[in-house]
Amino acid sequence: MSKVVVLGAGVSGLTSSLCLLKTFPRSIESLTVVSSEWPGDYHAHDYTSPWAGANWASFAREHELDQIQRDKAAYVRFRQLARSEPESGVKSYRLKSFHLKTYPLPWYIKQGFVDNITFPSEEEIKYRNMDPALYYGFEFDTFTVTPNVYNNYLIAQIRKLGAQVKRIDRLSDIAGVVDIVGYVPDLVINATGVNAGKLIGRYEPEEIAKVYPVKGQILQIYEDLPFQVMVETLPAELQGLPEQFLNIFPRAEGGCIVGGIFKKGDWSPQVNEDLSKSILKVCKNHVPELKSMTVYNSYAALRPARTGGVRLEYSEYPLAKGTLKVVHNYGIGGAGYQSSYGSAIEVCAIASRILGKSLAKL
Ligand SMILES: Cc1cc2nc3c(=O)[nH]c(=O)nc-3n(C[C@H](O)[C@H](O)[C@H](O)COP(=O)(O)OP(=O)(O)OC[C@H]3O[C@@H](n4cnc5c(N)ncnc54)[C@H](O)[C@@H]3O)c2cc1C
Repeated sequence: MSKVVVLGAGVSGLTSSLCLLKTFPRSIESLTVVSSEWPGDYHAHDYTSPWAGANWASFAREHELDQIQRDKAAYVRFRQLARSEPESGVKSYRLKSFHLKTYPLPWYIKQGFVDNITFPSEEEIKYRNMDPALYYGFEFDTFTVTPNVYNNYLIAQIRKLGAQVKRIDRLSDIAGVVDIVGYVPDLVINATGVNAGKLIGRYEPEEIAKVYPVKGQILQIYEDLPFQVMVETLPAELQGLPEQFLNIFPRAEGGCIVGGIFKKGDWSPQVNEDLSKSILKVCKNHVPELKSMTVYNSYAALRPARTGGVRLEYSEYPLAKGTLKVVHNYGIGGAGYQSSYGSAIEVCAIASRILGKSLAKL
C-alpha cells in the first residue's frame, strides 16, 4: 500500500488525483493533495486553472500523436460529463472556428473524430466580416468548462474516494512536501504549473528556464451566445495587437468569456486596457449577434508552458534520508483542460511502476 502526495490543486493535479484513485483503489493507502492555492481563490494570476476559457479545440498537430491521444481522452470524458453530469460545469456547445486558408484542417476534423462536423457557408464568412477568398471555417460540437465549478466538482469526487486536501504555504523546493506531510511519500505528483521549474530547480536547474508563462487576457460579459467562436488570425485591417486572436466561449451559467492573446514570457499580472478595447472591437466585428457586450470583469493570467511541451515523466531526487519519487505533470500551456484526462492517464501509467503493475480500466 502506497502513500501518494499530489502537489498542486489546478486541473492537472486534481484530474491526476481522480485517475490515480480510480485506477489503484487497492494499492493507494492514502492520497493527499497539498497546494498553496485552491479552486475559489482568485488572488494569484500564476494559479492558472481558475482563469481558463475553457473550451476543447485541440492544438495538437497531426504528427503529435501523444498529444492527440491526450486530447481525445478529454473530449470523450467531457462529452460524458456534459450529457450525464451537468453539475460538473461542463456544457456542450457548437464551435465556429475560422482560419486563413493557409492553415491546414486540424486532425480532429480530418479524422472525423469530433461530433457533427459542418462547414460555414461563404455568406456566413462575409456576415462575420472575413473575406471568403482568404478565410474558411469549420464547426463541430465541443464543450465549455466553467473552471471553478468543474475543479470543485473534481475535489468532491476525490474526497468521496478518500483523498485528503490541505492548503499550505508556497514551497520553495519540492522536497518541502516531506516536512508538510511528516513522512517521505511513496510517490509525489508534481502538478505545480508555471512554478514547476523553480520548485525542482535544485535538482534540475535547466527546468527553470524551460518552464515559461504565456500571458492571456480575458473579458467577461453578461450577454449570452448560443455557440463558441474562434478566429485564429485576425484580418489585418482590424489592427489587433501582435499574437491577438478572438475566442468567445459562452458558459453554462450564462454570459461569455472573450479573449484573447498569447504573450510568451510575460509574467506580469496587469490588464492592458488598449488590448481590452481591441478585444471588444474584434468581437463586435466578427460576432454581430452580440449587442450590449457589457463587461463585468477583466483579468490577465499565465498559461504554464514548457519548451519541449508538457512534462509527463518520472524523476528520483535524493533526500537527506531516502529518495523523493516524483511523477511530473506540468507545462501543458493553453491546453490544460482539453488534455487533462489524457495527461492524467499517462500519470497513472507511469505511476503503475511504483503503485502496482496492472492498470484498471478508467
Ligand atoms: C486566459 C486563459 C485561457 C485558457 N483557455 C483554455 C481553454 O480554453 N482550454 C484549455 O484546455 N486550457 C485553457 N487554458 C489553459 C489552462 O488554464 C491551463 O493549462 C491549466 O489551468 C493548467 O493547470 P495546472 O493544474 O497545470 O496549473 P495551475 O492551475 O497553475 O495549478 C498549479 C497548482 O500548483 C500550486 N502551486 C504552484 N506553486 C506552488 C508552490 N510553490 N507551493 C505550493 N503549491 C504551489 C498552485 O497553488 C496550484 O494549485 C487557458 C489559460 C488561460 C490563462
